[in-house]
Amino acid sequence: MNNTKGLLMTYPVSTYLKQQLINQQFTLYQLWENPINSQQFKQISNSIHAIVGNASHGVNADLIESLPNLEIIATYSVGVDQIDLIKCKERGIKVTNTPDVLTNDVADLAIALVLATLRRVCVGDGFVRSGAWKSCDLSLGTKFSGKSVGILGLGRIGSAIAKRAEAFGCSISYCSRSKKPDLNYKYYDKVTDLAANTEILIVSCSLNEETRHIINREVIDALGPKGILVNIGRGAHIVESQLVSALVEGRLGGAGLDVFENEPSVPEELFKLDNVVMMSHVGSDTVETCQAMADLVVRNLEAHFLKEPLLTPVI
Ligand code: NAP
Repeated sequence: MNNTKGLLMTYPVSTYLKQQLINQQFTLYQLWENPINSQQFKQISNSIHAIVGNASHGVNADLIESLPNLEIIATYSVGVDQIDLIKCKERGIKVTNTPDVLTNDVADLAIALVLATLRRVCVGDGFVRSGAWKSCDLSLGTKFSGKSVGILGLGRIGSAIAKRAEAFGCSISYCSRSKKPDLNYKYYDKVTDLAANTEILIVSCSLNEETRHIINREVIDALGPKGILVNIGRGAHIVESQLVSALVEGRLGGAGLDVFENEPSVPEELFKLDNVVMMSHVGSDTVETCQAMADLVVRNLEAHFLKEPLLTPVI
């Protein structure tokens, strides 16, 4: 691209992505250094034609309204729950995301969380490092192979999780908005029924008004004291306070959590529980995938400003 355009980053992008954006001749601005309503923001707002956001630092209606020449939002995430899509549609602003390139990594992490929770990988690691092994054996874990796995949201990531769990000899059932044709997996149209009929429930749906807090006390109780809940979707899928009390009271067998309602804050009650494994929202965070996501962000921006079809349009 030859014309220099202003691009606003809502979060500190990687050095690699920053360099690619500079190579594309964008003039980069940082939202955290030019906060909305500040004098600096007013000075740059007319020059901003594009935004790069991510899963945690999205783009709300106020930000969109403050940028009269905004044309495109390219989010470094597949989830678009942090972007006001209604406002974007009203203004004719394009939105792109980064599907597919991250699917395998997120599915891998979901299985890692299942295994780490059932086989007590983190507890065992601490057990060896602390020298406790010299005085006793680690208590028994729980088998994964052959268990029944329920997947909430059989989309790209959910399907990749299902494939992996099948390789462990697990039976698969799922709940999505629609029953998928040509699949042998059992379909439930209610998540409570899915939970009641599976030993491990994995949440991999997108976050929207219907799926916000879809995992509540009723679903958790249906999963029961031997059940395991894994969340690699979004924290707001779960009523976190109800999850915490179920774990503290022993009404749920364990949890593997990559995402939380108020990241980076995590309920401290969870820190004491050794049947809970936690990660810091890193489902797609591998060197290879982060580069592929960055490339996709840049290729979408490039296509837009060259007036070519977008690679992965949301709207
Ligand atoms: P996708 O292919 O669009 O799949 C989304 C799934 O959610 C679909 O199966 C959809 O059902 C289901 N869904 C939507 N609304 C639902 C509802 N009301 N009830 C039941 N199911 C519903 O997206 P994806 O690429 O698999 O990504 C899924 C999500 O994973 C993202 O939106 C993001 O939030 C999360 N994610 C997390 C990380 C991480 O780092 N932890 C990384 C990447 C993505 P239908 O098939 O019936 O439409």
